[in-house]
Amino acid sequence: MTERGSTKRGLTECGLSASGSTRQGLTHDGAAKRGATRLGSTPDGRNPEPFSLYVHIPYCVSKCPYCDFNSHVAARIPEEEYTQALLRELRHYSETEAWASRPVKTVFFGGGTPSTFQGGSIGAVLDQTRNLFGFDEPTEITLEANPGVVDAGRFRDYRSCGVNRISIGAQTFDPELLRFLGRVHSADETRQALSGICEAGFDNFSLDLIYGIPGQTVDGVSRDLAQALVYEPPHLSAYNLTIEEGTPFHARYRQGLLRPLDEEVEIEMAGRIQGTLEDAGLERYEISNYASPGLESRHNLNYWDGGDYLGIGAGAHSYHRRQEDPLGERWQNERLPTGYMRLASGAGHAVTERERPELRQAMAECLFTGLRMIGGVSVLRFERRFGTRPEGAFPDVADWLSGGLLVEDDQRLRFGRQGLLLANELFVRLV
Ligand code: SF4
Repeated sequence: MTERGSTKRGLTECGLSASGSTRQGLTHDGAAKRGATRLGSTPDGRNPEPFSLYVHIPYCVSKCPYCDFNSHVAARIPEEEYTQALLRELRHYSETEAWASRPVKTVFFGGGTPSTFQGGSIGAVLDQTRNLFGFDEPTEITLEANPGVVDAGRFRDYRSCGVNRISIGAQTFDPELLRFLGRVHSADETRQALSGICEAGFDNFSLDLIYGIPGQTVDGVSRDLAQALVYEPPHLSAYNLTIEEGTPFHARYRQGLLRPLDEEVEIEMAGRIQGTLEDAGLERYEISNYASPGLESRHNLNYWDGGDYLGIGAGAHSYHRRQEDPLGERWQNERLPTGYMRLASGAGHAVTERERPELRQAMAECLFTGLRMIGGVSVLRFERRFGTRPEGAFPDVADWLSGGLLVEDDQRLRFGRQGLLLANELFVRLV
């Protein structure tokens, strides 16, 4: 899930993403909460507003050649040591002013491949979170899993320790395209994993698909969708493959060995995806995301809506903003798992970079993360936070409005049909 200096458009799967922020995981009442204002402080000055927690598990059984997430292949996954570092970080943040006494509304275990960890470790993180912060019920607790790295028993373990939503990286059901993507699982293993999710009693789960894979056809995308819909997923993410710098795919692209699909074909694929999923009752609520009404990802909605999030684990990003401060602050942990564990077990945190965005950058981010949502961004909230309407800061916005790329209704700014197709190109012009 991401637009990070990409050669092509955006794909996100496991892990971090968008705009230098995190893709670290939205709400049963997402649409309603989008318009919500920040809660005030308690009489003793503390902020009781619930926040989102992202937990990064950086280990994978192999590295996919298109992946630029912070994921690592280890001969032995130090699960116990890594879990202890996560618990230590939670303790540290529970004693800081920014997070103390605030309940957690969503938890997202992303990676990497979080399903490399056992239910006991995931349960320990959730117990610590409940004990130190408390949960804002009903809490959405998502864990990303990859087929072939998890069996039905492990899904049951996750469910019994409190996970209530699974996000499964299917990507495609086409064996040849799975091989091309360097995925280590087969389509049958994806089907087994989906059956395991259903048998374990998860009624909320999401399935990730990738489209725009070289060699893929529009009919091939339809076949993937048909196979996915057999399991009646309440949520589905369809990401356009991007070729990210520093990846083996990028090297092959530069050598002329990998040729992206034509943009027209990708646009046709995107249209097929939207039509098929909407016919199946899944509404598009974000550029790449579809859900049954009420089952949007609350965790991701919090990112796109500019809410606070605390990220723990190797390379995790965090963002915190006080009500009266338009800018906020963000920080990032040490990316390498060994370095992360050393820092977290010593100081209690592993922050290596801290940044307060410039005003223009904060305004651009607010706009392009908000515009990712089909419902768009509240002009009133933008104005309240920055003291100007979006077109006051970005004259391009006025042109897009008059050209129909953007539409304003009900005091919300959102992409029109053509604007959605050009979204990534337009986002680049905001920064
Ligand atoms: S499974 Fe593949 S795409 Fe996902 S984080 Fe691991 S290496 Fe990256």
